[in-house]
Amino acid sequence: MALRESLLAWYSHYGRDLPWRHHSNPYAIWVAEVMLQQTQVKTVIPYYQRWLAQFPNVEKLATAELQQVFKLWQGLGYYARAHNLHKAAQQIVQQYEGMFPIRLEDVLALSGIGRTTAGGILSAAFNQPVAILDGNVKRVLARLIALSIPPVKATKHLWRLSEALLDPEQPRNFNQALMDLGATVCTPQNPTCNRCPWKLHCQAYHLNIQSQLPMRKTPAPIPHKLIGVAIIWNDQRQILIDRRPLGGLLGGLWEFPGGKIEPGETVEDCIKREIQEELGIEIEVGGHLITIDHVYTHLRVTLIVHHCRHVAGVPQPIQCDEIRWVTLDEVDLFPFPKANEKIIDALRQQA
Ligand code: SF4
Repeated sequence: MALRESLLAWYSHYGRDLPWRHHSNPYAIWVAEVMLQQTQVKTVIPYYQRWLAQFPNVEKLATAELQQVFKLWQGLGYYARAHNLHKAAQQIVQQYEGMFPIRLEDVLALSGIGRTTAGGILSAAFNQPVAILDGNVKRVLARLIALSIPPVKATKHLWRLSEALLDPEQPRNFNQALMDLGATVCTPQNPTCNRCPWKLHCQAYHLNIQSQLPMRKTPAPIPHKLIGVAIIWNDQRQILIDRRPLGGLLGGLWEFPGGKIEPGETVEDCIKREIQEELGIEIEVGGHLITIDHVYTHLRVTLIVHHCRHVAGVPQPIQCDEIRWVTLDEVDLFPFPKANEKIIDALRQQA
């Protein structure tokens, strides 16, 4: 098939040299695939190298403390990925004696592994003919066929196309070539069609509509939450931090306590109420430290942060998993979400 041949010939010259392509170790490839799910290659590389230095195999990961895993992940975001890697490592040790499974259905049963990640691992590690359909591949295929609806509404069709195109003789190289084409040539903005091995076959190119594809779904408005956050100091110049319950957004990470400002409520009243509800203590709300805007995929938050003083009561982990009094220096030992790192920087600047 001309599409396969031209893509593979292009890949042999222009394919990216990436650290996880130097071997066929399924554990390392799996880690890279998961890191790459929401993060760019150049950001992933140092994380990948540090990860393998600390957790060189699935057993080391399975027996690590979750906090250690989160700490190593800090800065990559979407912490559910790290949590799932940890859980899946334990599944692999318990169910497969530490050997990465090779059957698609077994791989799909592991925590946090969807169809495209499974395809990426099985094709790269075992050269199995399993297709992929990540964001880059969806874009390339949508342009190739000039798809007139958003890819999200044509997922089944795009999967069938990816499967039909996949070279059964060279699935590893083919999938990697497809990913590289999307990442380096058929880019979201200004695709360099003149360098594309599929130029002759590409419908979008022939119709000169490549910049308008893929079609986008009209995004729903992103909800915005205002959050009052407390930096609670005690008389020993320690700060109170708490660990979010596992499972929810940013589950298992540490944070400065606080919560959503209700309509008609002042920031000060919100902070006092939240701290009473979450930790069962009384505080005095003091000066403003910093206000931070942060955007998650489906949510925008504004954190309004105030210094506070512990007045009465012993803190209880009522709506969190754990609480600690820590000094500003000790804060670095705990994994925090990105937005909270800005609070720590602001605290250091004031110290
Ligand atoms: S010709 Fe252009 S739009 Fe078509 S697949 Fe290649 S880079 Fe993408």
